[in-house]
Amino acid sequence: SRPEPNYFGAGPALLPTNVLEEAAADLLNYQSLGVGVGEMSHRSSQATDIINETKENFNKILNIPDTHEVFFAQGGGTGGFAAVVYNMLASFAQKTGKKGKVDYFITGAWSQKASEEAERLGADVNIVADARKFNNGKYGVIPAKSEWKFSDPSETAYVYYCDNETVAGVEFAEVPEVPEGVELVADMSSNILSKELDVSKFGLIFGGAQKNIGIAGVSFYVIKKSLLDRLPQKEANALGIQVCPIFLDFPSIVKNNSAYNTVSILCIHIINLVLKNLLAKGGLSAQESLSKRKAQKVYSILDQNPALFNLPVDKSARSNMNIVFTINGEGNEEKFLKGSSARGLSGLKGHRSVGGIRVSNYNAVTEESIDKLIEFVKDFIKEAS
Ligand code: PMP
Repeated sequence: SRPEPNYFGAGPALLPTNVLEEAAADLLNYQSLGVGVGEMSHRSSQATDIINETKENFNKILNIPDTHEVFFAQGGGTGGFAAVVYNMLASFAQKTGKKGKVDYFITGAWSQKASEEAERLGADVNIVADARKFNNGKYGVIPAKSEWKFSDPSETAYVYYCDNETVAGVEFAEVPEVPEGVELVADMSSNILSKELDVSKFGLIFGGAQKNIGIAGVSFYVIKKSLLDRLPQKEANALGIQVCPIFLDFPSIVKNNSAYNTVSILCIHIINLVLKNLLAKGGLSAQESLSKRKAQKVYSILDQNPALFNLPVDKSARSNMNIVFTINGEGNEEKFLKGSSARGLSGLKGHRSVGGIRVSNYNAVTEESIDKLIEFVKDFIKEAS
């Protein structure tokens, strides 16, 4: 075991100790088979049971309707950026005979990267709104609805957004409303399972597992089943749609129950343990209240001291998962990081591209950890004034 960590890293991130203890034992010897979960064939009955049970628990916790299907793949969140483009374009082409346009919200570094990947893969990208245009060149807001510029719905293969921008600390307070009939795609790498979600609104939800629900090495997808009906590769190619590698081909993955090639059963097993743990604690409604309460505690102490702390994100777009701020005064950020570290609080340094401090408040970060952080912040304030 280990002493309970007070760790606020942005990803890979903290997982519950009890989950890791179980995973560690299973890595050595799974179900008394004499071999571990990372050593079994990904097509063994044990592996198939793990995949199926993980899907079932995913369905249960998110209340996923029959219209949608869960699957797991490799390639992380970034693999998803690429996979979305071909798979969604080919689905749209199957329906309409056309290569559609793709619409992207840009609200932070991750949606920016996703839109760049779409462009790199030859998609016809329209930017619905770029948050930097409305905030002096910086991320930190969700542009007002009146500023959203969608493509003609009959031409649009999908609208893409990142529900929680891990670096900028920006989260959509509500699922964006898109034109009738257009498929919505969401990157939820850093906030899946932190709140309740109406899955029926989405064509596709995806993300890397390594923040809120598992470790690096697997990504999760929730897809509307009708989107698996797609134009064959040659015909898609003829329309100018670039085909993606087979290991990211959604229908091939689904047909093979997430094991088209050697998916990490260990990683999927860990997701299952996280899901079971969360279900036992009351599921997503309980988690949502807890996430909000923890985040509110941090925002509140920072807001009370505006002379010291600088919160760059507009209140309406603040993330409950990644709380970012800078500290005024020469050398104060360094002092904050050193002082917090001396108290056993770690993982607080901001992303290298933006600096400052980032408190990641994922599901596994306990309220006790947040309270310890707040005690430290209070002492820091006293010392600085
Ligand atoms: N999307 C978001 C919101 C992320 O936070 C990250 C990783 N930090 C990614 C995508 C990329 O994920 P990966 O590193 O697994 O490719």
